[in-house]
Amino acid sequence: MNKAFVREPEFDGRGYCPRCGALGIAVTSEALDNHISPRARPRIGDSAWFCSFAGCEVAYFTLLETVVEVGQLMAPVYPKDDSAPICACFGFGRVDVEADIRDGAPTRIRALLERTASPQADCQRQAADGRCCRGAVQRLYLQLTGQTEQ
Ligand SMILES: [Zn+2]
Repeated sequence: MNKAFVREPEFDGRGYCPRCGALGIAVTSEALDNHISPRARPRIGDSAWFCSFAGCEVAYFTLLETVVEVGQLMAPVYPKDDSAPICACFGFGRVDVEADIRDGAPTRIRALLERTASPQADCQRQAADGRCCRGAVQRLYLQLTGQTEQ
């Protein structure tokens, strides 16, 4: 067998979605317990990756390529579903970003960013990818105001 096709024995901690190939975001059991429906939860262990590519049906996957799809989650999650909260900790969504743009001042975003730094933020559990929403909110703001190409 050609060596190029043998899986590297040393694991570098990165996981790629078996369906779309996107680099996954490592999550802990806290996020998995909180988001995956009880019926699908046993399919996946205590560490997995979140596929953050919006157009992919895979929500979580493991190194052994077991997947949990978006339909097996307790509720829709961002960015798989555009109308799901971007920040599940404080219920901040796309509509809030749009409202700030209409107002011409990012007051809601600023208030959110302040709260994300508070002890009430529970991203590891509440966010589908286990990460703070700060980056996602800023990306969406730039995107909607035409400051990025997308
Ligand atoms: Zn994917």
